[in-house]
Amino acid sequence: MIRRNATREVKIGNLTIGNGHPIAVQSMCATPTTDVAATLEQLLALREAGADIIRVAADNKKDAAALIALRRQLEEAAADTVISVDLQENYRLAEMLAPHVDKIRYNPGHLYHHERARPWRDKVAYLADLAARHDCALRVGVNAGSVDPERLAAGHGGDSVAPMVISALQHSECLDRLGFTRYCVSLKDSDPRKVIDACRRFAEARPEVPQHLGVTEAGMPPEGIEKTRIAFEQLISRGIGDTIRVSLTVRNDQKHREISAGRQIIEDIHAGRVRSVVRFNDDRLNLISCPSCSRVENQAFVDLAQQVRERTRYARDHAITIAVMGCRVNGPGETDDADLGLWCGPHYVNLKRRGEKIGAFKYDQILDRLDRELRDLID
Ligand code: SF4
Repeated sequence: MIRRNATREVKIGNLTIGNGHPIAVQSMCATPTTDVAATLEQLLALREAGADIIRVAADNKKDAAALIALRRQLEEAAADTVISVDLQENYRLAEMLAPHVDKIRYNPGHLYHHERARPWRDKVAYLADLAARHDCALRVGVNAGSVDPERLAAGHGGDSVAPMVISALQHSECLDRLGFTRYCVSLKDSDPRKVIDACRRFAEARPEVPQHLGVTEAGMPPEGIEKTRIAFEQLISRGIGDTIRVSLTVRNDQKHREISAGRQIIEDIHAGRVRSVVRFNDDRLNLISCPSCSRVENQAFVDLAQQVRERTRYARDHAITIAVMGCRVNGPGETDDADLGLWCGPHYVNLKRRGEKIGAFKYDQILDRLDRELRDLID
């Protein structure tokens, strides 16, 4: 149902992202990297939970040495684990780590912190050269909290997303000029709306570059999952996103929830179970329904969503969006952008047409009224 952007293939260890490959789900170890036993345990738990890529941070030489020891131990337990190192401030650690990892993430804003006199383009060339020589992919990981200071200084007329997008575009162009195309880009913010805006702008300019999606500092579940879901629904439904991470504030023994949440969000989007209005098709009937949660007051909602699908089949070739939402809390707002929106209460289903409420109807009456409004819209 979802058309994916025709992005480049990027090989990361034994995994490939981009060009229609399944969206890879990743997570990151939250243990101190120098605690090799604890990090190994978390890494294996994430692998067991189905993580496609696992990230480990390295901030200094002790971290780098621990990560190398970790990789050696994995050779016995799980040699095919795909590991990405998250370089913090010290980009030169890449020299120690490139032979031992599958992917290197660098933050363009952090490249300014060490060896300040050295131009950032030289540093990118250095990283690309190491990655190429050691069979690694790169991620240009732009983060709202640590944007390239030159871009921030430029102001961009108060457009808070522009510095992130321009930084990602500059680094992409720099890597391309170096002849290194085995990279993906991420643009993260704690505000899902800014993530949507940034990732869409970048995809418009560089649709062929694979994107890693994520909302940073999303928080604890369930709110953290919901924030992330909002961003992913709007991006993945537009074909954007080749790998994802759901960042959650959870205890170390609960980190596997990042993987299950990521897989659930992808599955829901593919099934049209979304909480915000998205457009899968510009030229056909677009039917969406929320995945339901504890706020549903009448389980008849699930049957109703199915019945709406059956009853509206005749309209399949019309560019109309129908949203069916499970509750009175989020339903009214989440149906605003739909042509026809329904949201369910304990005894009545509310109906809205292009933002205007038509009324509340009994469960056994709503389908007839929906049908009337739909035929009217088509006419
Ligand atoms: S619309 Fe309501 S019932 Fe559906 S997922 Fe959102 S909060 Fe839950």
